[in-house]
Amino acid sequence: MKRRDYLKKRDTFLRQDKVFWGIYLVCFFALLFGNIPFAAKVPKSWNTTYVVVLLIFLVGNAVITAWVGRRRMQQSGLVCKSCKKTLLGMPGNLAVTTGVCCHCGKEAFDHE
Ligand SMILES: [Zn+2]
Repeated sequence: MKRRDYLKKRDTFLRQDKVFWGIYLVCFFALLFGNIPFAAKVPKSWNTTYVVVLLIFLVGNAVITAWVGRRRMQQSGLVCKSCKKTLLGMPGNLAVTTGVCCHCGKEAFDHE
């Protein structure tokens, strides 16, 4: 992949990523705050169960968020041509600036 192709692909990915996570966060907080009226109606004998389910929901969300984020980055195709590691964020910026992959030290892109 050439550097200019990488930049186009990265811009598209970041735009789609922003929309995806925006929708995800809206759904997450809708579920979270949607529990507030429901929580007041939970019988006292179910309080412990309710808290445990809520904690599982929060921890599960963190695990799912990390997994989905990593999977989206891998599927983006924004990788070094030599070592195939992801070039997003700081590694991507370094590769664009220097032309060298910070993971393996070899050329990150094909020649123009
Ligand atoms: Zn590399």
